[in-house]
Amino acid sequence: MAAYTRSMHELIEYFKKLPGIGAKTAERFAFYVLKSSRDDMERFSLAIKKVKDSVKFCKKCGNLSETDICTICDNPRRDKTIICVVEEPKDLILIEKSGNYKGSYHVLFGSIAPLDGIGPEDLRIKELLKRVKEDKVKEVILATDSNAEGETTALYISKELKPFKIKISRIAYGIPVGENFEYIDQATLMKALEGRRTM
Ligand SMILES: [Zn+2]
Repeated sequence: MAAYTRSMHELIEYFKKLPGIGAKTAERFAFYVLKSSRDDMERFSLAIKKVKDSVKFCKKCGNLSETDICTICDNPRRDKTIICVVEEPKDLILIEKSGNYKGSYHVLFGSIAPLDGIGPEDLRIKELLKRVKEDKVKEVILATDSNAEGETTALYISKELKPFKIKISRIAYGIPVGENFEYIDQATLMKALEGRRTM
C-alpha cells in the first residue's frame, strides 16, 4: 500500500475490519469516500458517532434501544409470556422483519463455544431464567443458530429450563446444518418459527 497517503491507508485499514470486507472492497470504499462530497461524508461520520452515542442494549431483553427498556419490551400488545431466545440483536431484527411474531425476545450475545472459551456464564442465561420466573413465562422458543454452538446452547438452556415446567421449543430450520441465521430469508424464517417443535 506504499502508493497511498497515510490517511487513505488508515481508512482502508478501517474498512478492512468490517465483516466480509477484503482489501479490494476496502480500497473501493476509500475511493468512494474520496470522491464523495464533503457534506455527505460529514453526515456519514456523524451517523456513526450518533450510533455510538445513543444506541445501547435493552436492560431486559438485550435488543438495541435508545432507552433503558426497548420499544418491544415496553409495548403492552407484545406477549411477555412467550420469549424467543436469539444469539445476537441482528437475529431479533430478522425475526421482527418477518412480521409475524408477537411475543418478546431475549438476546444471549453469543453462543456456547468451548473452543473460544465462551461458557454459559458468559451469556445472558441467568437473566433469562430470572425473566421466566418473574414474568410467568409459558413458552421459550430457542432460535439460536443451527450450527454446533447454537445447538449446544439450545440444549443447555432447555436443560436449565426443565424445572420450570414450561413449553420449550426449538425453531424448525429447513436448512442444512451449519448455516447461520442471517442467510435465511424472511418467509423461511416465518415458517421456521411457526413450525417450531417442542424439545
Ligand atoms: Zn427489550
